[in-house]
Amino acid sequence: MKQAYLDRFLRYVSFDTRSDIASETVPSTGGQKVLAAALRDELEAMGLDKVVLDDNGYLSARLPANTDAEVPAIGFIAHMDTAPDASGANVKPQIIENFDGQAITLNAEQDIKLCPQEFVSLKNYIGKTLITTDGTTLLGADNKAGIAAILTAVEYLQQNPDIKHGDICIGFTPDEEIGRGADHFDVPAFGAQWAYTIDGGEEGELECESFNAARAEVIFRGRNVHPGTAKGMMINSMHLARQFANELPADEVPEKTAGYEGFFHLYGMSGDETTSRLNYLVRDHDRARFEERKELLIKLVASMNEMLGEERVELDMVDQYYNMHEEVVKVPQVMDIARQALHNCDVKAIEKPIRGGTDGSRLSFMGLPTPNIFTGGHNFHGIYEYLVVESALKSVEVIAEIARLTAETGNSK
Ligand SMILES: [Zn+2]
Repeated sequence: MKQAYLDRFLRYVSFDTRSDIASETVPSTGGQKVLAAALRDELEAMGLDKVVLDDNGYLSARLPANTDAEVPAIGFIAHMDTAPDASGANVKPQIIENFDGQAITLNAEQDIKLCPQEFVSLKNYIGKTLITTDGTTLLGADNKAGIAAILTAVEYLQQNPDIKHGDICIGFTPDEEIGRGADHFDVPAFGAQWAYTIDGGEEGELECESFNAARAEVIFRGRNVHPGTAKGMMINSMHLARQFANELPADEVPEKTAGYEGFFHLYGMSGDETTSRLNYLVRDHDRARFEERKELLIKLVASMNEMLGEERVELDMVDQYYNMHEEVVKVPQVMDIARQALHNCDVKAIEKPIRGGTDGSRLSFMGLPTPNIFTGGHNFHGIYEYLVVESALKSVEVIAEIARLTAETGNSK
């Protein structure tokens, strides 16, 4: 199983599938289509049915049930793109066998090292097999480790027909890293009652809570007059923006919060005397507190306009996604089976709230409850990304065990 996994993983990371937020095409980059086509060929060669690669670059397939019992169809999902933050071209993975706990030289020429002093998680993996980058690109374990795990687990189920399972639906999506992974996901066609994204980090991660998320732009309109004769006439939009920003709680920002603490994140700021803009991300795990945060922005805008005596401040706010927990808990088996599978595979569960969103955050509200499971990868989105092979193989085991347990215990509805 190890060799099958490694062959897949090393093949997938050779495809450059970096997504691009500035692109308006679907998928955002052509490289994703190339990987999708290669994966389609692989799914067909594996003998899966309902292999469909649609025009938007979404790939799906099914491993049909091998039992006549009533078993819910479940899905496993991973994304094909890599983060825009770092290059994903010409990835040259290095395999470190029997890691000795010392700094790993990623690139001797450029003197780039992966040090346990900086990345303390490395200390947990002495004696294990690691896959690193060569210091010039990301690795792409996020999320090609997920794709490799799902297909290796499917192959394992095919080779072990004594393990009974229901329909296993497989979905590979484009553009997750730029927040569009669920945009064109056809939930009814996918055919699963629930699913798992295999897109987490260290061994044991099991996540069913994400942020509730909104994006807000506050636009300030001033009145520009020559500064020499401005008294009593100029309204400087930048000062309006400054006043507004000062009204928000100073400690509720990403750099001062953790765990379940929400925030307002100022991520953009631009302006001149005439027009200024502030861009915020609003985040909170708790739905009521999330709504209060949005309400605060609305009230601040209203009170500034009232103070100014005219409509000079405008708010443009959209919800992005919600905490999947709300939807996932409605089908208790989804998490019960995942927890049991981890336990049966001797993996200690690490359940913590995600301080962000996943494809699953949106899919859960599209009728497909979708928590997230580890891949064994670390330090995503940059040159220090690495994969622990032993953990990755655990994720393969967990996927197969979820399939088995669903057939054993999941009979309902
Ligand atoms: Zn990912």
